[in-house]
Amino acid sequence: MLELLFLLLPVAMGYGWFMGRNSVKQNDHSAKQDLSIKYSTGLNYLLSNQQDKAIEYLLETLKVEDDTVEAHFAMANLFRRRGELDRALKVHEHLVRQKHLPSKAKQQAAFELGKDFLSAGLYDRAEDMFHKLLKSKDYGLKCLVFLMQIYQSTKDWQHGIALQKAIIKTKDKNLLHSLANFYCELATTALEKDQFIEVIELLENSLKHDANSCRANWLMAKIYENHQQYNEACQCYQDIYSQDSEFFPDVIDKMEYCYTQLNAEDEFYRFIKKVFDETGGSSALIKYLSYVEQKHGLSKAQDFMLSALKRRPTIKGFKHFIKMQMTEETTKSTTKNLEMIKELIAAYLNVKHRYNCRTCGFNSSTHYWSCPSCHDWEQLKPVRGLEGE
Ligand SMILES: [Zn+2]
Repeated sequence: MLELLFLLLPVAMGYGWFMGRNSVKQNDHSAKQDLSIKYSTGLNYLLSNQQDKAIEYLLETLKVEDDTVEAHFAMANLFRRRGELDRALKVHEHLVRQKHLPSKAKQQAAFELGKDFLSAGLYDRAEDMFHKLLKSKDYGLKCLVFLMQIYQSTKDWQHGIALQKAIIKTKDKNLLHSLANFYCELATTALEKDQFIEVIELLENSLKHDANSCRANWLMAKIYENHQQYNEACQCYQDIYSQDSEFFPDVIDKMEYCYTQLNAEDEFYRFIKKVFDETGGSSALIKYLSYVEQKHGLSKAQDFMLSALKRRPTIKGFKHFIKMQMTEETTKSTTKNLEMIKELIAAYLNVKHRYNCRTCGFNSSTHYWSCPSCHDWEQLKPVRGLEGE
């Protein structure tokens, strides 16, 4: 029933147009008769379930005038929402062909047609439509967003970067963030080939567009580390912490390695203490404990751990606490029991996801720079709370 009501929309639209026209041109009897025949033929097609024939017939019959444009758009959008893309395409293509339409309606028709092509997976045709509208005041920004989406799905980073000028003009943070990640994608490929200068240049470009791109500094640290430039690598890790402390647990070990290469462990632990004081994160806590134990003995480290756990309990911290109880003095049977508890906790943590997308809530054990679910960049971060950091 609902379907039938929906399909009668073009008829209602035609009727509105027809009545409007009728009131203006009362005397145009022959046109009126002609239209009546055409509409009843269209309606017959609808009622006999020949929907495509009906649409074709009504589009042909129903001239697009200023007052029926909106109804055409509404009809096409309804088709698209119902997943009937071929029908939506037909109506939008019909609108695009109308040369007499005002420029705004023409642009809208081209934009909607681009969206139809995109939904149908016809990326090259969608790309053409959106490119044509890049200078439009009303659709330029929206087209850029869709174009970047297309290039992200097709991994066509170079074409995305070619839109740089237009993106910078918009000052849109999300677009600039995407652009920065496109540079990071190219940098990742250059890094695999160990092209030092190219990587640095690409990442500098990335940071120019989005100074908060942790990914750019993460890659930068990697290339510096590969080339034994540990001071620079350490600086990149520190920058990651300032940009987004939630990413930091994933770089602690790499950062420790670089500081160790510089024989600057004390400096590293000072930094880690600062991170722990500011965030209370379990990774920073566990790392700092080895320093406390080394400097002040196991008993002090245990006390430190216990008070930290009381303030902010985490399963990861608890597992480490159990490990700390297994000293040389503990009896064999106690050690065995503690080992078992530790293994149980480790098994529990293993089945839990390590990363969580801050935009859509997608959980994953593997890290991705672009969320596999919502495709947002740099939103998959270590899980927070009792089962995480
Ligand atoms: Zn997501």
